[in-house]
Amino acid sequence: MHTHIVVLGGGPGGYAAAFLAADEGLQVTLVDAEPHLGGTCLLRGCIPSKALLHVSRVMSEVDELGAEWGVSYGDPAIDLDAIRGRKEKIIRMLSQGLGQLAKRRKVQVIRAHASFLDSTTLSLEGGETSGGNEASIPAEGRLTFDHAVVATGSVPSMPASFQLDSDRVMDSTGALQLKDVPGSLLIIGGGYIGLEMGTVYAHLGSRVSVVELQDGLLPGADRDLVKPLHKRLHELFEGRIYLETKVGALGAHADHVEVGFEGAGKFGTERFDRVLVSVGRRPNTSGLGLENTQVRLDDRGFIQCDDQQRTNDPNILAIGDVAGEPMLAHKATHEGRIAVEVIQGRPARFDAQAIPAVVFTDPEIAWAGLTDTQVQQENRNVTTSIYPWAASGRAQALGRTEGLTKWIIDPETNRVLGCGIVGPGAGELIAEAVLAIEMGCEARDLTDSIHPHPTLSETVMNAAEVFYGTATEIYKPRRDKRT
Ligand code: FAD
Repeated sequence: MHTHIVVLGGGPGGYAAAFLAADEGLQVTLVDAEPHLGGTCLLRGCIPSKALLHVSRVMSEVDELGAEWGVSYGDPAIDLDAIRGRKEKIIRMLSQGLGQLAKRRKVQVIRAHASFLDSTTLSLEGGETSGGNEASIPAEGRLTFDHAVVATGSVPSMPASFQLDSDRVMDSTGALQLKDVPGSLLIIGGGYIGLEMGTVYAHLGSRVSVVELQDGLLPGADRDLVKPLHKRLHELFEGRIYLETKVGALGAHADHVEVGFEGAGKFGTERFDRVLVSVGRRPNTSGLGLENTQVRLDDRGFIQCDDQQRTNDPNILAIGDVAGEPMLAHKATHEGRIAVEVIQGRPARFDAQAIPAVVFTDPEIAWAGLTDTQVQQENRNVTTSIYPWAASGRAQALGRTEGLTKWIIDPETNRVLGCGIVGPGAGELIAEAVLAIEMGCEARDLTDSIHPHPTLSETVMNAAEVFYGTATEIYKPRRDKRT
């Protein structure tokens, strides 16, 4: 078999690349080891986690109605089979949709585990089967190609000392299966995946604890954004957030997991019904045969590529999680589209000024472009303008005044360089900031754009007004910047 372009991996990077290549009239083969398209994001990542978070968010809002508005419904009756079924249905519908889109575009979808024999040949070995309704046809043998796009994604990191022969110790894939609602659940790692899953399980009724090695949750995110989330999670997890603490050992038993803690937040051992290990993800390059090509890996195992997604091998490009941080679906998709442009000889390159990041907890945290953390590391001269949501009528109406919206602005040019938001819906609000940063907007462009009232989106405009000292609802001395 020969194909012009082969894409390895049917996740948001791979299928975006394959579909654009087909739209451009190129001959494309998409290879994935799994029977259904969608990759980590659709099958065991973004979509199932957000489906479950939808349930926990509604439950939390109902609780708030009772506590603050005098409207209560009594205790929830939870049908886990129904929740699981609904989540699976969403995945199935989207995955089948991808299969149909591939068919209509005449993308050949092959189910196989692919590995490179050399720079123009792949070996295909039988992929997984799921017993019907599959988007791909199984294939074995060899496939030669003119161009390959590697989009094999990432897998959860599981330190050797946590690899126990027990399903009580789970990774994110196991946690998303929602086998039960454990009485007690320990989350190892205070990153976004752990906190999102912790939020889900806590609302369903688990007694959740979080242990994190660093001195704060969401290491790397701006502290002022994390603070309101920490406060709310502190309440939800009833104080069981153990910072600067390491899990030394795990011991699996028939009916519990014994966990040893060492650190400032907690010391000693405790039993948990289940443990979720969410200590990060690693690029998925194992068994790919990259040693038979000229592709090089960096010291963290990511495929090295330039800003055109080209690897060291002239025939092979790499995109998505396997090609480096940030490991996010929308970055993978963007890179996939660039790779296809580059294959066609167009001068495309990855030069995004802002890759948004969203933590879908409650409250949500979102940022794009320059962050305060980076400003401190790089000792940059910027102005940070913060609009507290307590001044927003909409936030007051929702009873969610803990949020804030901030712009990081170049005081010389008044250009917006970065934005950070914490509060319900932050993930939707950040999109405006991405556009503003990409377009090189000045703060004035934001203040001069009429935002609908009463919405949380006004805070994006208001935070820019704070820069000039002209925000209507808060008083801050005026700056002479409106030129
Ligand atoms: P993947 O989606 O990982 O797809 C890779 C595909 O390659 C897989 O289908 C795999 O079967 C296939 N493959 C691998 N090796 C081979 C081989 N040798 N031969 C054939 N096929 C192969 N990101 C966000 O942006 N927003 C979120 O809210 C978000 N939430 C997440 C929640 C969880 C719980 C997890 C785990 C991840 C989440 N992510 C989120 C991250 C997101 O899932 C990844 O960034 C994204 O899926 C990366 O896309 P990709 O195309 O690079 O690879």
